[in-house]
Order: sequence, then structure tokens, then C-alpha cells
Amino acid sequence: MFPDFDYETRIDTARQAMEAAGVDLLLLSLGADLPYLTGYEGTATERLTVLVLPAEDQATLLVPRLEEPRVVRRGDAFAVRAWEETEDPVAVAASLAGDGNRVAIGDQMWAGFLLRFQSAMPGAGFVSASGVTRLLRMQKDAAEIEHLREAAAAVDRVVARLDATRFSGRTESDLSREVRAMTIEEGHHADPFASVASGPNGASPHHDAAERVIEAGDAVVVDFGARRHGYWSDTTRTFVVGDPDPKVAEAFAVLEEAQAVGRAAVAPGVPAQEVDRATRRVITDAGWGDYFVHRTGHGIGLEVHEEPYLVEGNPMGLEEGMAFSIEPGIYVTGEFGMRIEDIVAVGPDGVDELNVSPRGLHVVA
Ligand code: ZN
Ligand code: ZN
Ligand code: ZN
Repeated sequence: MFPDFDYETRIDTARQAMEAAGVDLLLLSLGADLPYLTGYEGTATERLTVLVLPAEDQATLLVPRLEEPRVVRRGDAFAVRAWEETEDPVAVAASLAGDGNRVAIGDQMWAGFLLRFQSAMPGAGFVSASGVTRLLRMQKDAAEIEHLREAAAAVDRVVARLDATRFSGRTESDLSREVRAMTIEEGHHADPFASVASGPNGASPHHDAAERVIEAGDAVVVDFGARRHGYWSDTTRTFVVGDPDPKVAEAFAVLEEAQAVGRAAVAPGVPAQEVDRATRRVITDAGWGDYFVHRTGHGIGLEVHEEPYLVEGNPMGLEEGMAFSIEPGIYVTGEFGMRIEDIVAVGPDGVDELNVSPRGLHVVA
């Protein structure tokens, strides 16, 4: 499922980052750091999967015996050691760990395993692995950007199909099912999601599709995506059933302008928070500022939400190869909601737009 990247080089780069961070040992189980370095994703069960990466020695992927057939060997990047049902995987991992005492542990490692590692390695101090991996994962290479672009193109094709889909008279959950099916049909492999928020439900930015029946005049926020070769898509378009209410049309014109200004603000060296400010300024100046209740965007890659976050308080300069959403919204409680979300990357001179489907109000039947 994960592409055949040069995992040996990625592990070497991680070793350099470990050295810079003063880390002797990296332990990764669940979460995206593991597939980033190995092309393998662990299962979220009580049987531990862990990459043991000492600063000096060979990296070893420790997997339960019954999951060993899932592992794709990646040249000499790492050894594979299957642990038997009668073994204690934490003890096996500790024996491969060398005598380092500063251990970086994956942010999504279950707390139960962390506690067992802490007792198995009483002399060690534990820090968060994201201190080692965050910069590597944020700075995407050209092949990763192309994977994100292909995932974005697949959801853009779904938007075109939705323009010809009937909305009125159907429940949100029925439409959500159809959107998820289309997302897979258009070339994604796993984990489709589709939030469909109609009428007043649109005012809840993370609404779960429910049994509300979509009616004429509703604005409908459809936020969806999935994973393709491990990389996520995530887009939002706002549909309206028939003619929009004048208040909806007025707010949407402001939102469209704000989202365009946000995209145009993206360039190498621009602080992440400046993109949020640029977007928010348009909405605030038009008098809708109180209704834009979340940050402008989030990074995307092997996780659907990852760094960098485009939010006030994040002064980090954007760099070529970073990829994230630009997704302002306007939410009026009890009435309606709207959002436009695109994934963009930072190109050498400015924004590289990955989603390109029409961003205006999509009028449907
Ligand atoms: Zn979200
Ligand atoms: Zn989204
Ligand atoms: Zn998003």
C-alpha cells in the first residue's frame, strides 16, 4: 500500500535528526512515523509492533509472528524480527535497544506499552518522537507532493460527480455513504470519510452525518477524503439545493474571497500564522469574524491532520515542500454553515494548488 520510497535514506536522515536532538533510541509503533520510515503500518491491537532504531546499530522492525506476512521488505533499510506468542515483546525490544538512555517514543504508542517500556528500561528518559520526525515529515519531497496531488485529483473528480447528484429528499447519512463510495471508486484505497452537514447542521464544523433529510434551500457542507497509497486527500465544497438564501449568498461571497486570499498568501518564508491572518482579515472586515471559529488549516500527508498548523501563534516560516489545507468557514448557529477547503503545497515561488475543482457555491437539485 505504501510506495516504494527510499526508506534506507529516510532512516539515515532520522538518525541525523536523532543525533541533533540528543536521542539514543527511537521507538515507533502506531501512527504515521512508522510507515514514513519503513513503509509498514502497525495494527492497533494488544500485540505490540515497534520499530527499534538505535542511533548506531541496525534498525529492527519487531512484529507479532502472525503479522509478519504483512511486512514488505525494503532492502537493507531494517531487519524484521517476529516475536512469538510466548515472548514478551517489550523485553525483546529492550534487548535490541543498546544502552542508550535518551529514548524518543512515538506519540501514538499506547500508554500501556509506554509504561511497560519505562519499567523495562528504568535508567532511560523518555521524550516525544515528534521532536525527531516532525521536520522530516513536514518537508515533503517531490514524489510525496505528487502522491498528494493524485489524491486531490481523485476527490476533485468526486466533486464533479456530486454536481450531477440529487441532494434533496435524502438523508445526510445516505449522501455520506454515496460520497465515500465515490471516493474509493475514484482511486483511493482506504479510510474514506464524508461529513455531510445540511441546513442548520452546517453550523457545526465537525458534524457527523445524521438522519436529517436535505431540503430545498439548504446549504450543504460536504467535507470528505480518504487515503491513496498512504497519502490523504481532504476537501470541502458547499452545495446549495436550488436558489441560495440571500444571506447565504452574501456570506459565501466573503468566504470565497477569504479562501482565495489565503491561497495567494502562501509562499516560502511566510509565517504560518500570516496565512491565517490574511484569510481571517477578509472575513472580519466584512463583519463575519465571530462566525469563523477555527484555524485556517492543517498540514496533511500520511496523517490527515499533521504539522504545520496555520493558526495564530505559529510563527514558523513556511518552506518549499510543506503541504496543508486552506479551509476558512462561516458558521451561523441555528441557520447555516459553509466552508471551502483545498490542499495546497508550498512551491519554489508561491502556492502550488493541489485541489482545483470549482470553489463557488455548487447548485444542485
Ligand atoms: Zn477538520
Ligand atoms: Zn476536511
Ligand atoms: Zn481539513
